[in-house]
Formats: sequence, structure tokens, C-alpha cells
Amino acid sequence: MKLQSHKMTVSIDEHASHLEQFKAFYKQLDDEGRTIEKLPRQRIEDYQLEAINATLAHVWNRNEHYRAKLEEAGFTEPKIDRLEQLSTVPLLRKDVIRGDKQKLLCVDPKEIGQVHLTSGTSGKPIYTAYTLADQYVYDLLPKYLELFKETDADVAAVALPYEFALPGLGFQRLFQFAFGTAVLSLGKGGYMAPVDKSLELMKEYQATVLATTPSYAALLAEQSERYGIKIGEDIKLKRIILTGEGCSHTFRTRLEAWWGCEVSFFYGSTECGGVAVECSHHKGYHLMEGHVKVEIIDPVTEKPLPYGQTGEIIVTTLLREGMPMVRYRSGDIGYLQPSQCACGITMDVLHLRGRMESMLRLGGEDYSPFLIEHFLMEIPDVGMWYHFKLNKGKFKIEAEPFRTKLSDKQLASKIKKHMFERIGVECEVEIRHDIPRTFGKATRIFQ
Ligand SMILES: [Zn+2]
Repeated sequence: MKLQSHKMTVSIDEHASHLEQFKAFYKQLDDEGRTIEKLPRQRIEDYQLEAINATLAHVWNRNEHYRAKLEEAGFTEPKIDRLEQLSTVPLLRKDVIRGDKQKLLCVDPKEIGQVHLTSGTSGKPIYTAYTLADQYVYDLLPKYLELFKETDADVAAVALPYEFALPGLGFQRLFQFAFGTAVLSLGKGGYMAPVDKSLELMKEYQATVLATTPSYAALLAEQSERYGIKIGEDIKLKRIILTGEGCSHTFRTRLEAWWGCEVSFFYGSTECGGVAVECSHHKGYHLMEGHVKVEIIDPVTEKPLPYGQTGEIIVTTLLREGMPMVRYRSGDIGYLQPSQCACGITMDVLHLRGRMESMLRLGGEDYSPFLIEHFLMEIPDVGMWYHFKLNKGKFKIEAEPFRTKLSDKQLASKIKKHMFERIGVECEVEIRHDIPRTFGKATRIFQ
């Protein structure tokens, strides 16, 4: 099998990083004509243990905060003997690093090549600093040619924010340097990128892939009708990659029908980069185990949870020198399973359940908003823009009609009845025709 080659190699003279050693591992895989995706578990785990120890040594030697925390936890050297011992390494909480540019920095500030920061919706931003080698050498070492079928024959439209946060530039680099794909940098509603121009550009250059958020994929489809661009004819995509906001499978199915192509989920964050991605079987996300080690913990006791049990997702980055994340508490909820996927990929499977703070408490049970969205989207007369409002235990749904003959009143009672059947909770329903479209992250949950 011939592997695609990276298009560019940044030469960084006499670059002495703890990550240089992993070039040999990935070179070996290239020589064998395989990727990390289908390696036997033992080989993946041996690599992960080595990469974690290299990262622990790096942060121990280069960062006061990490070293102090490790010493407090009883470490006399930066090393674990087995992967399970990672649970003895202190967790990294968001509030410890919020608004602090230096705390996790593990290189001389002169070596920083790029800074990204989180949108700071819940307080001050979290800064992440990358060296050029992080971005253009180490981040590109693991290849996922089963999960990404894009090649230099594809044209990728990246409709994700390019400002501040990672997604736009992250996907741009992935497409250009890992797959040799041409990129249309649409951004997401920025000053230079109105929706009509974005759609026009996708049409002119015959985009084959679109990376965006679920709500923006819906917005582009909706607006295409207004501008007389026929998706499926004028724009024929092979695949949409969704990231940034989660969504339910039903929402995805609607996008697939609308755009006439496969829609895959990608899970990542500005702090940790790519974490997991769906294969074509769509039965959960395969962890990008070349880049990250993921654990699940009980968010209260902070104890590790076994396969199958839902808890908070903890991420350790494996290929970062600028600002590695070690046992980062993501605030997202999910569970892991060993891969038994028909695709043959051996990397563990993550089932994502949403953000901890967005869980909806209804009738004494915690529901993932994706599940509630799924129930709502089961009704074909309901559009893709909605609000869930929870106030003092009272649940209200605001929804839009979609290509329906029902009156607003009929639709409201249909939703009420359907949701009661699904969750056993009475809800108030208001049909609106004016739910605001957003270029930012769609806000759908209010509580
Ligand atoms: Zn799979």
C-alpha cells in the first residue's frame, strides 16, 4: 500500500525536543505500509506509555507548575511503569489555567509559533501555545488514513472560526499538510465571509468536503435555497465533518438527507486538539490514539472508571512540546469501549454524551441534550432551530415549524404529546418563527 505523503516538512535546525524519538516509530509504520489505526492494542499501548513518559519528563524539566503538582503527588521521578498508573498523575482543572498564559508553558516564549485561546464563554480564556514543530512536524506524525479518505483530488471548505480558537486553522493544516487537499478558508460568518459568498466559492471550486458545526451546516443548507444554489447539484459534497458543537444522530440524518452526503462527527478542543473521530460505521468515535491518551473518571471522586461507565473525559496530549495538556479535565461526558468495529480500526471507541454543564435534569433524571434533541427531531414537522429552557424544574421547548401543513397550535400539541411519551415529563411548547440564526456557537440550552 502506498501511503500519502505529507506535503511539507518544516526544517527546524538542531531542534532538540523530547518528541524527536517518535519520528522513528512513525517512520517504521510508514515503512510497514500501515498506520496506528489498525495496530494490535499492545503496540498502541506501548507507544502511549512511552509518549506519556516522554511528556512527563518534559513537563518535569521545563515547567514549575507541573513539577510541583507531580512532587506533591509523591512523584520522585517523572515516570509511570504501566498505563493504568496515569491515574496517579494530578488532574489539570480549567480554573487553574484560565486567564494564565505562562502556567503550562514548557518552552522559551521565543519558541512560540502560534497561540490559540478558547472562546471564554464561561469566564477568562484558556491559552494554548504551539511551537512551529508542534504544528508542522509532531502533530502530523500520526496518520489516520482510514478515518480520513481525503486526498489531493479533494477540495475542502473549512467553515469554522479562524480567529482565536483552533478549529479553522487546525482543519486547514490537517487538510493541507496531512492530505494535500486544497482548502477554501470560509471561516464562519466573519467580516470577509458572508454566507452567499461562501456558498458561491464552494460551487465555483466544486468543494467535495465541508468541515463545520452542525448548526452552520444547517444554516448553509437553509440559505442555499435563498441564493438559488442547489446543494446536491451545484455543490456535490462527499462528506461533511462536524465539530465544535455536538448534535444528535437524528440531526445528522437530516443533514445527510439535505446535503446528500455522509456526515461524520469529529471531537476535539482548542486546548487538546483532535481527540476522536467517527469512522464510516458511525458507531462512536475512534480515539486518535497517536495524539491523545483518554481516560474517563468519576467527576466527583475523580477515580478512573472502567470501559462502559459514563463519566468525565480526561485528555493527555502525547505530541506537544509548547504546552502539553496532562490529564486535562475536559468538562465533557462520555464512556469508552474497546473497538469491535467492523471497520477494523483497533483504536478505542468513545461515546460522547455532551458537556457536563448542559445536562438537563428532567423528572429526576439527567438527560444529555443530544438525546432530547433526538426526540424532538423525530418529529419531521419540526425545524432544526430550537431552544430548551429549564427554569425552576419547568421545561419549555421553543421550536420552529418545518415544511408542515400543521397549524402552530397543532404542532405544539404534537410536540407536547411526543415528548411526554419519550421522557415522561410535561413540557410547555411555544412555536416560534424567529429563532435567531447564529454565526457563533449555537445556544440552545437555557437553564
Ligand atoms: Zn470504526
